[in-house]
Amino acid sequence: MEFQNERNGSKVHKYLLKMITGLIFLLGTLFIGLNLSQAQQDNIPELEDGEEYEERVRHPVSNIILQQRFPDILVLSAAPTENTVALTFDDGPDPRFTPQILDLLAEHDIKATFFVTGARAEAYPELLQRIVNEGHIVGNHTYGHPNLVESSDMDTLETEVLRTEEIINAIVGYRTKLFRAPYGFLYDELLEQLGSMDYTVVGWSVDSLDWREDPPEDIAYNVISNIHPGAIILMHDGAGDTGDRTNTIEALRQIIPNLKDQGLEFETVPDMLDISYQK
Ligand code: ZN
Repeated sequence: MEFQNERNGSKVHKYLLKMITGLIFLLGTLFIGLNLSQAQQDNIPELEDGEEYEERVRHPVSNIILQQRFPDILVLSAAPTENTVALTFDDGPDPRFTPQILDLLAEHDIKATFFVTGARAEAYPELLQRIVNEGHIVGNHTYGHPNLVESSDMDTLETEVLRTEEIINAIVGYRTKLFRAPYGFLYDELLEQLGSMDYTVVGWSVDSLDWREDPPEDIAYNVISNIHPGAIILMHDGAGDTGDRTNTIEALRQIIPNLKDQGLEFETVPDMLDISYQK
């Protein structure tokens, strides 16, 4: 009996020791992890009003109704007469994810359209240059990614757009004619103003919902099940400081071959719509 107790005692001992060692290891990993992600976050310009997640629920005016009102300014897709689709990526350039997306696009010989923020283009000019060097098209996604409906004054719009236009021009040598609103939030006056600034405003017809960071299969399903000829597909190469686009990249590995198998070809937005990308 005594012998039995002793054996149990030493078992408990060993178990406790394992627990404590495990706990120390866990805390250590957590500490290193926090420090690493802090270091990665320190430099990246934040998205002013957050990434899609918090804002998308308060969509003000349907982009489809706005497109009817402003057919010459706002585009959501191309006519479904040819088997082409356009991949678009927002919120970069982001050194954590944009290079991987560029590698993947190069691997498949696909050209895409990137809507960049001025703040991030300014912080990572060499990455913006790489996007352009590899044959992709760059569009304006404001300087700091504000909610333009909430700020709702034309001065904010003009400052945000012009500042970004200058930055992009200084890096890549042309003034982009393409604009996409943060969160896709637009209203009549904004569109009129953007039109008078000689912009084509680019929305989308297929939303990958990748900002939710669901598994890659779900992101791929969102795109593949809604695809149509002439589609403009919304995805994100950039994220907020705690965001992660790993699942977006994994989803692309499923989306690209699937759409190619369906006979679809990838083009940039201006190529697909046969419009100019620079002023
Ligand atoms: Zn955005």
